Amino acid sequence: MIYYSTNGKAPKADLRKAVVKGLAEDKGLYMPERIQRLSDEFFQTMGARSFVDNAVEVAKAYWGEDIPSAELRKIVEETLAFDCPIHEVEPGIYALELFYGPTLAFKDVGARFLARLLRYFTNGEGNINVLVATSGDTGSAVANGFLGVEGIHVYVLYPKGKVSPIQECQFTTLGKNITALEIDGVFDDCQALVKAAFMDADLNAKMKLTSANSINVARFLPQSFYYFWAYAQLQKIGKADNVVCCVPSGNFGNICSALFGKRMGLPIKRFIAANNANSVFYEFLQTGEYTPRPSIQTIANAMDVGDPSNFVRIWDLYGHNAEAIRKDISGATYSDAQIAETIKDCYKRTGYLLDPHGACGYRALKEGLKPEEVGFFCETAHPAKFKDTVERIIEEPISIPEHLAAFMKGTKQSVGLSKNYYDFKAFLMNA
Ligand SMILES: *Cc1c(COP(=O)(O)O)cnc(C)c1O
Repeated sequence: MIYYSTNGKAPKADLRKAVVKGLAEDKGLYMPERIQRLSDEFFQTMGARSFVDNAVEVAKAYWGEDIPSAELRKIVEETLAFDCPIHEVEPGIYALELFYGPTLAFKDVGARFLARLLRYFTNGEGNINVLVATSGDTGSAVANGFLGVEGIHVYVLYPKGKVSPIQECQFTTLGKNITALEIDGVFDDCQALVKAAFMDADLNAKMKLTSANSINVARFLPQSFYYFWAYAQLQKIGKADNVVCCVPSGNFGNICSALFGKRMGLPIKRFIAANNANSVFYEFLQTGEYTPRPSIQTIANAMDVGDPSNFVRIWDLYGHNAEAIRKDISGATYSDAQIAETIKDCYKRTGYLLDPHGACGYRALKEGLKPEEVGFFCETAHPAKFKDTVERIIEEPISIPEHLAAFMKGTKQSVGLSKNYYDFKAFLMNA
């Protein structure tokens, strides 16, 4: 498969280059040149196959030419070592629970796939450095996905004081090939530092850099596996007509993978992108203008993004046409007060405990679903990852799953840096 850049000014890349480089030379994001439609027969029989078997067919459509099928199957199997079940919250509304991986959030899927693909491509070469900016969950997923992988060092950049203590301990306590950098700034500063490093000639001459943010094709595309699985599960219970999919969105990598799924033929009728108060995409849908701005801090902090990197992928996928985007995707935006009210109300009425991100998805689906439709939203993280916030809202203690509690016993190790690029560069040059 050949990959092109959304900016159209960089040379095309093969899979290896797209994965190892992450970002194209013209700062565009890589897109696969073809999106293969799977057969009608495949979709009609999805409910009869396992999560892994369905995912292998999806994987072959993108990577079948580049990776031998036995190897690809192994990578998919290792990635999907946990289930992504659907849970009926109330009639017609399902939660696709994406929190059974090692860090209890959906980013485990993309991070695990990327780690295995990078290892496949760099086997024997060694000395690869992964730079990742995080507003919370990315860092833990990537750090855990790569922990102990030989020849690869991971640097996690996170905004000081802006990630929850539970999130922080999941990437600052690991040691080994994982270094946590605590940046005195906001998430967008961390993202800017990573982007600047990739463009820096000195640095790239000294060390092999690669990204693990949701811009990497090997991280965002595998996320489509669980959209196929959600559909397969709905098909099994006879609920697969008029399916609406709602995705709590920040950098828009997750929803973007679902949109690729639709292009492959996955029969999802329409999508809803649920935002917190960072409503740049929502406003784009209203006005047709995309106006990025600094992010605002919210209680759904993994979605605190003021300039979603994957917007350009969606823009490209729909031929730079806002009207075409609006036909497939509608939007919603919620304040912290609305998120809190939603968590409390859903818990009281149904007994289902949402996390602050999933709460945006649940509410947007509930408000937007028509009587003839069936909907699922991504429950993107386990509520215990946001224990303090959720407990304050429902006014009840919640318990922490065993392996999350294990992280909290570790010792925090991180390096403090300013948001000035030259400090970051100096640190890497001397590493
Ligand atoms: C990252 C994240 C999101 C946002 O996903 P994007 O792919 O960035 O849109 C939503 N919820 C949680 C819990 C996350 O960690």
